[in-house]
Amino acid sequence: MAASLPPPRKRYGQHFLHDPAIIARIVEAIGPRPGRRIVEIGPGRGALTAPLLEAACALDVVEIDRELAAMLPARLGTTPQGLRVHCQDVLDFRLGELGTAPSGYDVVGNLPYNISTPLIFHLLRQADLIRTMVFMLQKEVADRIAAPPDNKQYGRLSVMVQYHCLVDRLFTIGPGAFTPPPKVESTVIRLTPRRRAAGERALNEADFSAVVARAFSTRRKTLRNALRDFCNTEDILGVGIDPGARAETLSVADFVRLSNAIATVRCRVM
Ligand code: SAM
Repeated sequence: MAASLPPPRKRYGQHFLHDPAIIARIVEAIGPRPGRRIVEIGPGRGALTAPLLEAACALDVVEIDRELAAMLPARLGTTPQGLRVHCQDVLDFRLGELGTAPSGYDVVGNLPYNISTPLIFHLLRQADLIRTMVFMLQKEVADRIAAPPDNKQYGRLSVMVQYHCLVDRLFTIGPGAFTPPPKVESTVIRLTPRRRAAGERALNEADFSAVVARAFSTRRKTLRNALRDFCNTEDILGVGIDPGARAETLSVADFVRLSNAIATVRCRVM
């Protein structure tokens, strides 16, 4: 007799997909095929895992819930070949542990909403190992990721994701596609890591990340005030940016110019 499923666990953000048409759309967006190195985050009861494994023949999955991780192979058929289950917190998981993937990993999943933002930052730090990411996220998080400057949703998450990746919003899904239904709508997005040309790249990515974080840490402050520990008014003016402006008016390219000027000033001082 098949083991009964444990009830959904709120602390792990468990909302399981049950709508076959939605599952098919997400799998189509991922486009699994043999030879691709696919990593699924949070396979849960296997709604996406089964069709992904069938099409790709091999799959690594990372699941924190021990009970679900242990049940997964049996749910997909007796010891399905090509399925590797990593029972751990994805925030501690590094793609490099999986060995080499010459064309990069495809990282996919219906993400647990409670960790989606830290998880995206965790993956951006490994972007050079990734070919593409297809995620289902809370719609509001997808809105923040895709937001342009001068928009209420535009912030640190938008700048950091758009610096590292091309962003495509694919489609939005209502709560009825999940068990239990979440209180919010969900959006499927594709993030494709971009290889920036030399002139568009941050000279020092740690500086870039720190400048963006500080600039948005107090949204009401002008750049002059928010960045006073990093640079002075002349440095900001020197790259053609108004020191009286606020962070949400700067494009990703503006942030690159600003952090490059700061990196250059640091080199001069040292
Ligand atoms: N993929 C399944 C589906 O679409 O039906 C489940 C999606 S459910 C929204 C999120 C899944 O991520 C759950 O299986 C949950 O246990 C798992 N999860 C939550 N936090 C996690 C973490 N930190 N590391 C790995 N998996 C996690």
